[in-house]
Amino acid sequence: MKQKIIIGNWKNYLGHKESVSLAHSLSELVTKDRTRVMVSPNHLYLNEVNQILSTTNIEVISQNLTSAESKSDTGGITLKNLKEININRSLVAHSETRIREKNPQSILLEIIPIGFPFVLCFEEIKQIPFNTLNDDFEIILAYEPIWAIGTGETASIGHINEIHSDVKSKLSKLGLNIPILYGGSVNPSNCKEILASDNVDGVLVGGASTKYDLFKEIVNSI
Ligand code: PEP
Repeated sequence: MKQKIIIGNWKNYLGHKESVSLAHSLSELVTKDRTRVMVSPNHLYLNEVNQILSTTNIEVISQNLTSAESKSDTGGITLKNLKEININRSLVAHSETRIREKNPQSILLEIIPIGFPFVLCFEEIKQIPFNTLNDDFEIILAYEPIWAIGTGETASIGHINEIHSDVKSKLSKLGLNIPILYGGSVNPSNCKEILASDNVDGVLVGGASTKYDLFKEIVNSI
């Protein structure tokens, strides 16, 4: 089986104490070579969680990025902020970010030219800016149907395969090989079937990633 990427998006479910405690538990997690694990805590705890996990192979990533430049951007997160604390990847346009921000994808115009790695979430294929993507640096896509996020309703494997293979064939026509993750109510009971598909390069896990035992089961299911 090829390498799979498992991302835990803690959203804003965890406070400071819980985030630190989950990070300490994760620091004991032994991952296999065929698994790459990333976690995305609340921005306020990014630095501390990153430090706790610095000796592990778990990558800590940001939940959002609003500007590549340091500028007047009240409440935003700049590239400088992230780089100063050694955070080298961000989610972009998560569905919950799309509710709050008018055009979260616009950050791509700033970060693609400078090659800052990101995980772009989409729910419809037309939201993927194919012409701006390249494989000069690591881009990850995450298919997240909005009706499956946080609802307990997972997309069927048939549906996931259909969307992922459609995106993969569009990417391949452009000569691109970009991993595509699935996200939407992934849990220990459904992850095995989803991750077994060759069309699925990994999963983006929200709720279940905030509980150590559940996340560990997902990571170990591969
Ligand atoms: C998410 O936050 O991207 C997500 C998929 O959440 P959940 O797993 O809770 O549906």
